[in-house]
Amino acid sequence: MEVQIDEGCISCGLCTEICPDEFEFGPEGTAVPINDPVPADLEAGTVEASEACPVSVIEVEE
Ligand code: SF4
Repeated sequence: MEVQIDEGCISCGLCTEICPDEFEFGPEGTAVPINDPVPADLEAGTVEASEACPVSVIEVEE
């Protein structure tokens, strides 16, 4: 699974809270993926974070 975060993150912190092993805040203050491709044990959390993101900028691809 691959993941990327498009422009438009509002730094709400949901993804970093839901899946802290896959999302962190980067130097610009917006969320960035930690691993790409996403390790198997983080796929569920990554999808959950993607669905929870209020501005739908987390793009997940199988
Ligand atoms: S859930 Fe979406 S808006 Fe919130 S920090 Fe993550 S990428 Fe940014």
